Formats: sequence, C-alpha cells, structure tokens
Amino acid sequence: ESHPPPPLTVTDVTVRFAGLTALDSVSFTVEPGSVHAVIGPNGAGKSTCFNVLSGVYRATSGSVRLGRTELTGLAPHRVAALGIARTFQNLALPPHATVADSMLLGRHRLTRAGFLATGLRLPSAAREAREHRARVGEIAEFVGLAGDLDRPAGALPYGKQKLVELGRALCMEPTVLLLDEPVAGMTADERRRTAAVVAGVREGLGISIVLVEHDMGVVMRLADAVTVLDFGRRIAGGTPAQVQSDPAVVRAYLGE
Ligand code: ADP
Ligand code: MG
Repeated sequence: ESHPPPPLTVTDVTVRFAGLTALDSVSFTVEPGSVHAVIGPNGAGKSTCFNVLSGVYRATSGSVRLGRTELTGLAPHRVAALGIARTFQNLALPPHATVADSMLLGRHRLTRAGFLATGLRLPSAAREAREHRARVGEIAEFVGLAGDLDRPAGALPYGKQKLVELGRALCMEPTVLLLDEPVAGMTADERRRTAAVVAGVREGLGISIVLVEHDMGVVMRLADAVTVLDFGRRIAGGTPAQVQSDPAVVRAYLGE
C-alpha cells in the first residue's frame, strides 16, 4: 500500500467547444504523492481540465497518462477503475442515505463477492461487507466523521457533506484524488478543517492530489506545485512561492 503512485502526465491537451478553446495545449505533471494545484481566474479552464482528467470531457488533442497507462478518451468509470477518484464541485450525494452508506458507495469497485453472492447471503459476502464497513469506519475517523456515520448525509451541515464526498472518494482507495474546489462555499472554520484533512491525506496515505481551487490561501498552504491557467493557456507553473510572485499571474488575477 505504501509504494508511491505513478506520475499523472498531461501533455499538450487542447479542448475546443464550438468556437471556443477552453484548454490550449496545456501540459503539466503531477508528481507521485504530491498536491498539484490548478488555479486561475474564472473561465480559465480549470473545470475543463478537471473534466478531462476524470474522463467526463474528451480532449480534442493531446494525452493524459497515469504512468504508462493511457487515459485519453476513457469513459469516467474506466478512469475511476484505474484508481483516479474525484469529488464534485456541487454535491452529488444520495439525499436520504446515511453517511456510512454514502461512503460505502465508494467501495463498489472493490467488491469481489458481487451482486449474486450478496443476494444469496453467502457467508463470503457477509464477511466482505463487514470488511468494507470497517474500512469506512477508519476513513470516517480520518476525515472527522466518525460520530456521524448513522446520520443521513443530507441532514449534515454543508461543510460536513463535502467531507462525506471526500470520504467516499477515499473509500475507493485511489492512487490519485481529483478535488474540484473542495472548500468552495464553506465557512472559514470548515475551510480550515477541510484543508487539514487534505494535508492529512497527502501525508498519511501517499495519494497524489490534483486540487482545482479558487481560494489562494488554501492553495498556498497545501500545494507542492501549482499550474496557473488563464484563457485556457498555462501561463505559469512552479512552487506556490514562485507562482505567487510571477508577474504574469499577478496580471491575470488583477484583470479578473
Ligand atoms: P473555470 O473552471 O476555470 O472557471 P471552465 O473550464 O469552466 O473554467 O471554462 C472555460 C471556458 O470553457 C469558459 O469560457 C466556459 O464557458 C467554456 N466551457 C466550459 N465547459 C463548456 C461546455 N461544456 N460547452 C461549451 N463551453 C464550455
Ligand atoms: Mg470551474
């Protein structure tokens, strides 16, 4: 479990929508076990980039690779099956499910016994279900939801619901975690908590994280490397400190 994931390599990715180039030959590499932030003003192409990485959008040209595995053009479920988990900018939790059940959804791809064994109530399926619940408990502890496992996820405060999403993604045991604006809409307190959890994921689990985020404070605190987009182009890249003092970045944000 502790060997590092392969690098995630984005090479010359271009995405065109009718008449508009949302990403223009963008390249960057997410180093194993690092937090790589993708930032930029509104409309820069961050969500498009995220959607290409998760298989929701198909690149017009260019490639995305995890190690030597080509991800370009794979459907979202295939990308997920390769160990790339994502959260959603807007919540996508089943409204009445408990926190535990919402997180169990993330175990789906890891289920061996399968539907038939579960339906027949075979002992192997029961044991496996217990193991999954135990792991859900550990991850809930990790993200700070241990006390909320039996509550309906939809009844929790917004910040906690976002943590359920994060927990569900972690339940997939991913090698790469894609986070789309994980602190958007949160209170200052929830932001701090979420940032601490993400830092814990990075340190404790050795997962690579791609962080698409508008909150510069969070980015500066969490990221090892930053890619800056503006009007679909990569205008800067480097450490948070390098990027922060880059004149092109300052101009892009001032022009917002
Ligand atoms: P960001 O997340 O950085 O705010 P987006 O990636 O959402 O930026 O958008 C980049 C550009 O691509 C914007 O001009 C946006 O309107 C356009 N865009 C994004 N998704 C689509 C789509 N599905 N169809 C057409 N245009 C899109
Ligand atoms: Mg966006």
